[in-house]
Amino acid sequence: MIRVSKNCNNCKNVYTAKIQQNIIKCDKCQGESFFFNSKNLNFEQCSFCNCREFYKRKDFNQNLGCFLVVIGSILLPFTYGISLVVVLIIDMLLHKYIDEVIVCYKCKMEFRGFKNLEKSIKLFDHHTAELYDKN
Ligand SMILES: [Zn+2]
Ligand SMILES: [Zn+2]
Repeated sequence: MIRVSKNCNNCKNVYTAKIQQNIIKCDKCQGESFFFNSKNLNFEQCSFCNCREFYKRKDFNQNLGCFLVVIGSILLPFTYGISLVVVLIIDMLLHKYIDEVIVCYKCKMEFRGFKNLEKSIKLFDHHTAELYDKN
């Protein structure tokens, strides 16, 4: 099941929708809606902003990662360094089993639920992102 989620430009709510629906709408304010184009599934073009570039990243909560490191550091003196090793192992396992998300550079729409990701989609690139942030 492929789902998209997007931060609403109108009310800042993050809404999620299955892509069987042709019209995707913010479920909170109904103020933002767009037609889901099948080109979006090949990642040729974003249905919302017409951007042609996407990147992939792990669907991993960065705050959780930081939290684990903090916990590991606090426990460090009591565990003779073992806590940090444990944190690193947990982090590695999380990254291994966590799915990847595809994100549109421009409007930051996210796509989840792909078993095999398109090879053409690259990892996040700062230079590309900067180009979009300026607009
Ligand atoms: Zn909204
Ligand atoms: Zn977009």
